[in-house]
This record gives sequence, structure tokens and C-alpha cells, in this order.
Amino acid sequence: MQQESSLAQIQNFEGKYPKQLWYLFFSEMWERFCFYGMRGMLTIFMVSQLMMDEKAANLQYGATQAFVYAFTFIGGLFADKILGFRKSLFWGGLLMIAGSCILAFDPKTYFFLGISFTIIGTGFFKPNISTMVGSLYKEGDSRRDAGFSLFYSGINIGALLGGYACIAIAKSYSWNLAFGLAAIVMTISLLTFVFTQRSMGPIGLSPFANDPDKDKKKWYDYAVYGGSLLIIPVIMTMVAKTQYTDWFMYIIGPATLIYLFYEMSKYSAEEKKKLIAALVFILFSILFWAFFEQSGGSLSLFAANNLNNEIMGITLDPNGVNNSANSLFVIIFAPLLGIVWIWLSNRNKEPNTVIKFGLGFIFLAIAFYTFYATRFFANTAGMTSLSVFTLAYFIITFGELCLSPIGLSIMTKLSPQPLQGVMMGMWFLASAYGQYVAGILGAGMASPNEEATALEKLNTYTAGYHQLAIYALISGIVLIVISPWVRKMMQEVK
Ligand code: GLN
Repeated sequence: MQQESSLAQIQNFEGKYPKQLWYLFFSEMWERFCFYGMRGMLTIFMVSQLMMDEKAANLQYGATQAFVYAFTFIGGLFADKILGFRKSLFWGGLLMIAGSCILAFDPKTYFFLGISFTIIGTGFFKPNISTMVGSLYKEGDSRRDAGFSLFYSGINIGALLGGYACIAIAKSYSWNLAFGLAAIVMTISLLTFVFTQRSMGPIGLSPFANDPDKDKKKWYDYAVYGGSLLIIPVIMTMVAKTQYTDWFMYIIGPATLIYLFYEMSKYSAEEKKKLIAALVFILFSILFWAFFEQSGGSLSLFAANNLNNEIMGITLDPNGVNNSANSLFVIIFAPLLGIVWIWLSNRNKEPNTVIKFGLGFIFLAIAFYTFYATRFFANTAGMTSLSVFTLAYFIITFGELCLSPIGLSIMTKLSPQPLQGVMMGMWFLASAYGQYVAGILGAGMASPNEEATALEKLNTYTAGYHQLAIYALISGIVLIVISPWVRKMMQEVK
């Protein structure tokens, strides 16, 4: 067995990336394959197999996504306080495998049970693997953002493959097989992680690892495992009835903020300021995801109703493009943008994180102006250009790359060690609110008249995108204007 390395040895790596990053990259890639594979099947499964109407399926889908991301906060919290990142990841992975196996066995009967396992499992897995990436770097290491950028490509390779493969198998062979594939892939993710652990030195060990009472504290672990199983029936009930999601969302955000303020009271004024800066990023990211996540809802309906199927002479399914264009662009452009940041940083011209976030919103705004502009390319039947639509995805990808991988990185820079998991959880909790608000925005944009013509739908949706473009632009400008204040709060962190 390989010799365990010390933290200093790991963090003093040479070259661009630490080798452990590659292991985490693959583990997360397969986890995202499973997650996005499932995500891509949910709505269609509910409509075609569970015979739900589209509105109910959309609400259900929104609730599931909101719960998935909301539980990352709880997963982060238990990792910080009790399990440590490694055990959390392992437990989360096991629950995700169990969830996929349940769905593979009999998806119709056990749909909500399988989904609930996946929700809790992702909560333990997703935030903690991201925090472990941050732990590979010393404070102030300028290679950290590039590392998160690479990790983000892994996420999107998984998302692209899983998003395409699972639904294709479900449609042409069987739903059981497609959910089974998610289980197999998640097992690969977990095995990859088991091998990774050997080279992680002390990273991700339980906070009690050096506690003289650590054997006595074993039962804390068992309580977390037992508690997470016991809560599954509660999740099942809450996901199945979407009005419970509203209540849940009204409570979880304020409750986590109160908890964070309580934790913050234990830290120095400097640490507090950094955490406030982290909260500013978190708040803006809610807005960002609320717009961005139209892709799973209103944009997929728009793709189904109003788009032709041709890009530069190639025939493509518009919904396929809607589901995969973004991931493909991330894979291609994340490394290039990483190089651009390093190039700028070598010339002392790299924009700081607040400005990058502001740019993220500006790209978001241009992308939504482009979605809006599709109306000028429409024929009289309300069918418009898939190429212009894809161009908007190209632009939105740069917005995502200015905000999402950098957001992961900045959470690990601004949080003191004992709060790393919680803060990463809060970052993803913002995505939960984003998903939730995205559903509300999408529903507000949809035409009230089910019988509306394609042209009427085109006009209603694109008018909605125009509004979003304006709001995104205002948000970007606000961020850039307040950037000196946020920078001050961040102190030496860039
Ligand atoms: N697409 C990214 C992922 O799956 C970001 C998701 C999010 O934070 N909303 O990790």
C-alpha cells in the first residue's frame, strides 16, 4: 500500500495540478453521470410512466432538485462536525447506489423511495468532494481556481455522458436498465474514491481523528447513519407533495442563516468579514441559478415547441441540444478560460473574484438577450433558429464559468477550516433556492392558455427572457459597483 503523505507534501505539489485532483475528478465525473442521468429521466418518467400531467411533473421535478441541493447543506454540516469528508462521501455514495438500485428494480412502485435515497446520498457526497478539492491547496496558492476549473470539466463530462446515455437507454430499451446503469456508474465513482483515499494523507479525516475519546465518539457516526436512514420516509412525503417543498424552503434558508450567524460569533472580526463576503457571493448565486436553471424547465419547453432542428446543415434534436450544449461548451472552454486567467494573472491583470462574478451576470444577460433575439429569426408558424439558441448557450457557458467553479473555490478560501463543509453546503443551498425560484419564474412565463399557438408561445417566452436579461444586467452592474466593498471584506483573499 502506498505511503500516506503529509498535508504539506500534498500541498507542495509541483506543476499545474496536484495528482489527487485527477482522482477526485474521476470520482465526481461518475457521480455526476449518475446524478444528471437520473435528472434527465425524472420528468419524462413521471409523465410517460407515472401518468402525471406536465404541470405536476414540472413542480415535482423542481421540488426534487430543490431538495437535492438543500440536503447538501446538511451533508456539509455533518461532515464538518462528525464524519469528516471521507466517510461522508462514502456514505453518500452508498445511498446513491441504493437509490439507483431501488429504481432499477421497480421504478414505478418505488419511485419516491429511490429518489429520496438519491437526495440524501447526493447531500453527503456533492459538497464534500468539492471541499476536498480545496484542501489540496495551500492558502493563497494561485493555482486553486485552475484546479476547480478542471474539476468542473469533470463534472460536465459526467453530465454530458449521463444526461445523454440514460435517457437514450430508457427510451430505446428499458427504464430499469437506465436506472441500473446509474447504479453501476455510481459504484465506479465510489471505488475510484476508495483508491483515492490512500493518497489523501490527513485530508477529509473525521474531526475526531486525533481525539483521545475517538472510540467512544464512534456512536456519533452511527447516529448520523441511522438518522439519515430514518429521515427517508419524511423526505418521501415531502417530495411527493410539492406544497411541503414551499414550507421547507421558507424554513431551511432562514434557519441556516441563523445557524451561520451563531457559528460566526465564535470567530474574529477578520474571519467574520470573510464569511459576510462569502454570503454576498452566495446570495448573488441564487439569482444566477434562478435564471440559468430555466434550461431544465422553460427552455426545454421552448426547445420542444419553437425550435427547428438544424445547425449549419446538421440535423439535431432541439431538446438534445438544450440538454447537452452547455456541458459540451464547458468541457471545451473551461481549460481555455483557466489558461486565460493564468495568463492574466502572470501580467497582474487577472480580474478579482467579485468582478468575475459580475462578468458572469453580464454574460448571463447577453445570453438571455440572445434567447430573446430568437424571436427575430422566427417564421410565421413560430419556429425559430436552433443555431441562435445554441449561440445563447455558448454565451451562458462563459457566465457559468465566471461564477460556478470560482464560487466553489472562493468558498474554500473564505471559510475557516471548521466551517468549510457548512459553507460549501450553503453554496449549494443557494442552488436549491435557485432551482426553486427558477420553477416559479418559468411557471410565470408560461402562457396561461394551453391552446396557445407556437407563435404566441414564442412571444410569451421570449418576452420573459427579455425581462431576465434586464435583471441579469442590473445584477452584474450592482456587483461591479459594490466590488470595492466586498473586496475589503475579503481582505487578503483574491
Ligand atoms: N453544474 C454544476 C454541478 O452539477 C453546478 C450545479 C449547481 O451548483 N447548481 O456541479
